[in-house]
Amino acid sequence: MIESQRRAAYLQALGIDRWAARQPTAAPTGAPAVVPPSATNVGADVWSELKRCVAECTRCDLHRSRTQTVFGVGDPKAKWMVVGEAPGAEEDRQGEPFVGAAGQLLNAMLGAIELPRETVFIANILKCRPPENRDPRPEEIGECVSYLHQQIEQVAPRILLAFGRVAAQSLLGTEATLAKLRGTVHRFGPRHTPVIVTYHPAYLLRVPGDKRKAWEDLKLARQVFAELPAEA
Ligand code: URA
Repeated sequence: MIESQRRAAYLQALGIDRWAARQPTAAPTGAPAVVPPSATNVGADVWSELKRCVAECTRCDLHRSRTQTVFGVGDPKAKWMVVGEAPGAEEDRQGEPFVGAAGQLLNAMLGAIELPRETVFIANILKCRPPENRDPRPEEIGECVSYLHQQIEQVAPRILLAFGRVAAQSLLGTEATLAKLRGTVHRFGPRHTPVIVTYHPAYLLRVPGDKRKAWEDLKLARQVFAELPAEA
């Protein structure tokens, strides 16, 4: 499939049938960062230690029912980081986030803003599957969210995309509704990384009528990224 057909297919999955061509200056952003070994590239040990801690984690009861932990996937030096809620059955089986039906739509959503899945880093609030796909409990989030904070610290993305209420509320430390959180630029952490909130793809599979609003969120994210100051 050629590139324009691929993008059209992504947009179609989002319910968007017309693609308004962007200015060439708003450059696609997903090119994998090539990080040469240097004094600033000291994160490899921290990253593998973090992976080990997650794999061995028994901080909450979810470790009893998991097949395996789901650390995250993608470019550990990505400029875009995607935050989801928690692994589902397929993710628990495969050890990778967003590999089920919601993952297909997530890939299409990313593709619609020219971000191939492998160029972002994808992680969840919870690293273990809640049984029966129930909502994460506050105490589970409380035990687990520091892993995500450390991942964000290591990846140091330039922008964060939070998919769904649980991801947005947990990341931003708020109980505001998704409706309130969408449409504005939030900030996370010491780097004041911009955070854009949108619908969870699993929700969009149930309520496809909201895909157009998700498309607005993705366009906002793309614009915020395009307007970021050049990296020092
Ligand atoms: N939903 C999520 O939030 N994360 C996954 O990894 C899969 C489904």
